Amino acid sequence: MGAPGSGKGTQAQRLVKQFNIPQISTGDILRKHRAEGTELGKRADAIMAKGLLVDDATMLDIIRDRVSQPDAADGFILDGFPRTQPQAEGLTKLMKELGTPIDSVVLFDVGDEELVRRISGRRTCSLCNKVFNIYTAPPATPATDCAEGSSEHQLFQRKDDEEATVKERLRVYEEKTRPVLSYYSGSGLLRTVRAEGALADITERLLKALAESVAPAPAAPKKSPAKKSAAKRRPVRRPAAKKKAKARPRPVVRRKKTAAKRAAAPKKKRSAVRSAKRLPARARKRAAKRPARRRAK
Ligand code: AMP
Repeated sequence: MGAPGSGKGTQAQRLVKQFNIPQISTGDILRKHRAEGTELGKRADAIMAKGLLVDDATMLDIIRDRVSQPDAADGFILDGFPRTQPQAEGLTKLMKELGTPIDSVVLFDVGDEELVRRISGRRTCSLCNKVFNIYTAPPATPATDCAEGSSEHQLFQRKDDEEATVKERLRVYEEKTRPVLSYYSGSGLLRTVRAEGALADITERLLKALAESVAPAPAAPKKSPAKKSAAKRRPVRRPAAKKKAKARPRPVVRRKKTAAKRAAAPKKKRSAVRSAKRLPARARKRAAKRPARRRAK
């Protein structure tokens, strides 16, 4: 999670290498549809150009289809999804259906000034799809890392990275996506990473956040301490209750003894009351009535 330009895509690409699982970028999927001129691509084109969001049902269909592919069987990194509350809820439902719960949600925290600098400097290689930034992360020349083997990356600026569209995208992020953060912080999944500075430092912070959020997962108790302590207390309470039930007949015997003593020696009244106090409530009531009757006699 994070505003446009917060570095989600760049860091996701680094995680792909680290974990050998695919990056699923909904923005990339839509751009591919647009480039291929599919019906969805044509529909999305106008929406993306305005910096708005494609409808939730379409996005959930895209995700359902993509996460079901074999290369995602061992896990995946979602980049740019979910972006709205219904998408987040739809994702939770989908993950439950597939039996693959979300391990971690990471928010990339970047100041507004830096966001603008990043977006305006962002360039993508049309050959290998790698993302660069002419200010902060320019490509090496000659290129040695173009997956298409070119000695030079063919850089272009995304249409929606132009100034007017960027403003709208930031507004849409605040309105539709930021509220989703509380959905994840509420479930304890959200980790925030300061995403400014050197790329390698951000990756390090990201890996640390992932380790923190993924590692406690097996130790479910940590996530819900209240529930665990309740669960822990339960077995202790039950035997205690059983003991009380079994102990009930005992006071009856005692009560008979104290009643006899009381009749024989009225001065022992105080100790009789003390014994009665140890009796269960019902027995105590009965014991309390008896001396009164005797007094009346
Ligand atoms: P991105 O590359 O993630 O910044 O996405 C580029 C554009 O694709 C966005 O500005 C939206 O128009 C569209 N888009 C990407 N992901 C989503 C999504 N999860 N929900 C709706 N629209 C999306």
